[in-house]
Amino acid sequence: MTGIDEKTELLGLALDEVTNFMVSLGEKPYRARQVYDAMARRRTTSFDTMTELPKTLRRILEEHSIITRTQIQSVFDSSDGTRRYLLTLNDGSEMESVFMPEERRDTICISSQVGCPLACTFCMTGVLGLKRNLSAGEIVSQVILVLNQVYGEGVEVPHRTNIVMMGMGEPLLNYDQVMKAVRFLLDPKGLAIAPRGLTLSTAGIVPRIYDLAREEIRPRLAISLTATNDELRNQLFPINRKYPLEELIKACRSYPLGERERLTFEYVMLDGINDSDANARELVRLLSGIRAKVNLIPHNPAPELPYASSPMERIQEFQKILTERGLPSFIRRPRGQDISAACGQLAARHQANG
Ligand code: SAH
Repeated sequence: MTGIDEKTELLGLALDEVTNFMVSLGEKPYRARQVYDAMARRRTTSFDTMTELPKTLRRILEEHSIITRTQIQSVFDSSDGTRRYLLTLNDGSEMESVFMPEERRDTICISSQVGCPLACTFCMTGVLGLKRNLSAGEIVSQVILVLNQVYGEGVEVPHRTNIVMMGMGEPLLNYDQVMKAVRFLLDPKGLAIAPRGLTLSTAGIVPRIYDLAREEIRPRLAISLTATNDELRNQLFPINRKYPLEELIKACRSYPLGERERLTFEYVMLDGINDSDANARELVRLLSGIRAKVNLIPHNPAPELPYASSPMERIQEFQKILTERGLPSFIRRPRGQDISAACGQLAARHQANG
């Protein structure tokens, strides 16, 4: 073996896939459990530290496989504790992950693609276009890398970790790799993220929502709605022309929910565009009968984007209408704005600056 690309990427594989790989090397299956545990439980990123394996085996593994190709390029710290990681992949592509600490839990926002093909007009990633899909290993490596940076490799994380697939990319357009990553992250015998702690956000790839509904192991689902009629949604989300609101809402209505689970609808508040009282009432009507909660997200402006955020008073008035009509909602606090880590701001800026 010569090029790194011929090596098997072990991170992100399920235990039985690691087993097949070990057997193909002529090793005993129990070695797979050791390697998997090292990656998923101890968050080991090199074979050197797998001292439970004989040295010769570590060398063989190094020759035929890799754990991850992700490197930190830069780290940006925000005054509110948010940390943005710019990561470089093997082929020189860049992806970003954001760490948001809170008192009793952390949230890690991860990317599913390099860039994004959807070109939503209020989102900076849309400006980039799609470069490529991430592999399951590259998706998972963001979580491992961030936890290791913050807490140290092998150190038990002191509290809950929430993960949101709300970084760069449209996760449902990279369905297979994203689902592999989901299964890896949720494996109770591995990294063991709590199922309710993993959320996938989509702009509305309707056929994949039906696919997701049939999965045995699923993340929580969030829909980036932001518009309550097709005329406006077509302007904001070009993908709405392919999968209009009626079809999207129909898919949401049939989506199976756990006992206390709600579907999350993200609603980016755009000044004078979608924030009127009438829009709020339209939102309530659209979601009636769905066990839903709404996240009201102040828009993060950028010079490249032709929108401004609704003022906070307007967002509160908007929320009041939802509350009066029994639709639960939360106003999201903008985070990491001083380091361009806020929703929809990732990567494009760095690239624009060369
Ligand atoms: N493609 C997926 C996930 C990435 S976007 C999706 O569309 O959901 C993650 C979230 O960030 C979405 O809710 C999106 O509406 C929001 N977002 C994008 N650009 C934003 C901006 N400039 N300000 C605030 N939220 C933004």
